[in-house]
Parts: sequence; C-alpha cells; structure tokens
Amino acid sequence: MLRLERKERIRIWENVVQAIEDYNERVAEHRVAPQLDPDAIRGRLCRFDFQEPMEPGQAVDFVVENLWNHQVHTPHPSYFGLFNPNPTTMGIAADTLVAGFNPQLAAWSHSPFAAEVEMHLVRSFASCFGYDPAACDGTFCSGGAEANHTALLAALTAHNADFGEHGAGSFSAPPVIYVSSEAHHSFLKAARVSGIGSRAVRVVSVDERLAMNPAALEKAIQKDIGDGYLPVMLAGTAGTTGAGVIDPLPELASIAQAHNLWFHVDAAWGGAAALVPELRPLLDGCDQADSITFDAHKWLSVPMGAGIFFTRHPDVLLRTFQVINTYMPKDARGLPVIDPYSHSLQWSRRFIGLKVFLSLAVAGWVGYEEAIRHQTAMGELLRSALRNGGWQIMNDTPLPVVCFTDPGGEDAAHLERIVSEVLRSGEAWISTATIGGKPVIRACITNYATGEREVEALVASLKKARAELN
Ligand SMILES: *Cc1c(COP(=O)(O)O)cnc(C)c1O
Repeated sequence: MLRLERKERIRIWENVVQAIEDYNERVAEHRVAPQLDPDAIRGRLCRFDFQEPMEPGQAVDFVVENLWNHQVHTPHPSYFGLFNPNPTTMGIAADTLVAGFNPQLAAWSHSPFAAEVEMHLVRSFASCFGYDPAACDGTFCSGGAEANHTALLAALTAHNADFGEHGAGSFSAPPVIYVSSEAHHSFLKAARVSGIGSRAVRVVSVDERLAMNPAALEKAIQKDIGDGYLPVMLAGTAGTTGAGVIDPLPELASIAQAHNLWFHVDAAWGGAAALVPELRPLLDGCDQADSITFDAHKWLSVPMGAGIFFTRHPDVLLRTFQVINTYMPKDARGLPVIDPYSHSLQWSRRFIGLKVFLSLAVAGWVGYEEAIRHQTAMGELLRSALRNGGWQIMNDTPLPVVCFTDPGGEDAAHLERIVSEVLRSGEAWISTATIGGKPVIRACITNYATGEREVEALVASLKKARAELN
C-alpha cells in the first residue's frame, strides 16, 4: 500500500499534474480568499478515521477540492498580500523532483550534487549583495525567521567563544541587540530561544520615513554600555514587512563597527532589489554586513520555504553549530567539503536550493530582473491610482508595497471594515497593518502576474467598499 502498483502510480502522477495545471490555469477566475468556516472543514475531516484504506484517486481529489475551497490563493494576481509568491513553474517542478529523489541534505556525502548546488547558489547570491564569493559562507533555511535566528546565534558565538557550551550566562555582561520598531518580530522569538530573552531586544525608534534613527540608536547603545549591558548585534532591515522601508544601512554599518557589533541585514523581501541595476543602490551597505537574511520564497517566487543566510565570516557557522557525534557518515572525510548539518540549525533537511536553482537557470538573472522591475512599476501605478482615488499614501519606499488610509476616516475600525468588505467580495486580498504606530491598509505587488487590470480592479473594489460604508 505504501508503494502503489505501476498503473495506479501513473494515474496518480497524472491526476496530480492535472490538478496543478488546472490550478495554474484557473486560479485567477476564482475568488481570492475563502469564506472562513472551521466547522465545514472539520465536518469533512471527521469522516477520516483511517480504518478502511481509501482509493488513491479519491484521496487526491478530496485534497485538491478542499485546497481549492479553503485557502487564500496566494498565486492569484489579485492577491496583494504578505510577500507570498505565485510559485514559478520550475520551482514547482523542482519541489516535485525533490520529493521523488528525496536527497538528504544533512551530510555532504549523502547528496553531493544537492549540497554543491546550494553552495554554488550561496556564492552567486552573495556576490549580488557585494560579498566576495570566495570568502563567504551561508546556508539554506526554512525561511527568514530561521535565517534571523541563525544570525543571532552567529553573533553571540562570534562575541563569545563560550556561548555555545556555556550559554547566555557566560557573557561578561548581559548581551543586548538592536532592531528598529519596524523590524520583523522573528528577532523577538530568536532572542527568546537563544536564551538572551526578548527583553534583550532594544527597539530603536524610527524617523518620519519609518527608517531606523541612527541618533536614537547611538543613544541607546551608550545608555546600555553605561548601564552595564553588552551590545552584541545590530539588525537593520532592507524592506520592512509592513511598509517596505530600508534602514540607512551605511550609517548603521559605521555605528556597528564603532561599537564592535555584529551587523546583520534582514533583506528577506527587499534583497531582491540587488538583481535590478536601478534598484541595487538601495542596498548599499549590505556589503559591510556581517550577515544577511534573504528569502527566495518571497520576491524570487519559489514555493515555500526557501530562506538563505549569508555571512562573510567563513568560519562562524561551523563554530556556531558543530556538535561532535559518531553516527553521521564519514565518507567525505578529507575532502574539501561542508556537511550542511554542521552549518545549520537543521539536521535532516530537504533540498531547498533546487527550486531556486531551476527557476534561476531557466529565467536567468534577466528574467528575474524583468519580473522585479515589472512589480516595482505596478507598485508605482497602484500608488498613483490610490492617490487619484482620494486615498492618502502613508509610506515612502520605491519598493512595491503601498500603505494608505482614507482621509477623514483614519481610525483602525473604519479601515478594518473597508478591508473586510474587499475580502468578502472575493475580488482581492489586502490587509491592515500598523506602521509607525498608525493603522493603514496595506497592499503589496507580490505576484509577477499582477498587471494594470488587477491594480485598477483593486482600486475600484476599494472605492466600492468605501462608498458602501459611507
Ligand atoms: C517575511 C519576513 C521575515 C520572516 O521570514 P519567514 O520566511 O516568514 O520565516 C523576516 N524578516 C522580514 C523583513 C520579512 O519580511
């Protein structure tokens, strides 16, 4: 039963491929967001007591039907959402191959090709960020949260060689780290689980553009030093999750250097700007970062999850993660290679890099450059259409995420009602957020297939929703 007969196998592959193809073809005609009804889903699932084996085609059909009906369709061109992609064809093919061949990315010797593909990609992308590909290291991870967690562990290890063995208590003073009030909240989680505690995260205020305020940062560092704390890491963001704002990276790099802080740049989404010549200068300062987070499952549109962590300290990941054991394969001993599990939080691991490799091989840098440029232009179009429609733009970024309010009705509840009305219509997916302490409606061009038609339709839906409420 675990391995189906050949005839049945072929039928299942065909069913699955057909389902994926139908989804690709028809998702744009479907409503973007589902009506949320947990009882309806549980009612269907409670019929599965797994006592009787099920016919495989029926099982697949059940899943496909329910995926259609019960998820936000992030590949929909009217999904203006949270950096979730419309997955590339080659990315879907890659993940399918990975499931079939199932390479084990813990030890190099178990999947030398996969391990080398990932290191080749790490070096290729590291060059885009201004790193020397011959003198850097990195690892694929589940996503940006794991990459940020990796950054914190690397920073703590770089500061204190005893950290790995003796923990957060082995520092000469309590370690603290700095992020802006607009930074991603994965740093709080990382601080919790690393043992330094979330109170060690100093939240630095932002300027009127919502970028980290260097003067406030400098003051916070001085105060902590005076109070007997040990500053260890500064994390700047290149493209905040809420508003797409880029911190002043060169200034942050200088401050980090002056105080011997590990400088990390969280470029989970915005890092893709590195692939477009006219956007590339936005990331100046990345080259001085000790480490960088980048998520290929965001703007590179590969299926989830595909985070990448980069560092220009080739020894730090091994120092952070190596533990001695006797059972891992030793076949590659003596070869100049890296066992991925010794450079990563993960142990057994799937071949995350293949979806990036096949997508990039087929699109080329030029394909990505065009997609990112197109999305940036659609962001501009959305901004001006909203302005013309009487909405007020609340964020200042060249990247395609637009935060706005309804002048005269700026309270959170009013904006929430407008968003609910749009979601109820099924015509688009947008969300509310709080940026710089103010409630806004947020719309991001996350999908390379989003065009002028969808942008105009979104602005029309918003207009209709607002009119219905007034
Ligand atoms: C999305 C995001 C993260 C978290 O990444 P995941 O892939 O969801 O784990 C971290 N930082 C920023 C700036 C992000 O936008």
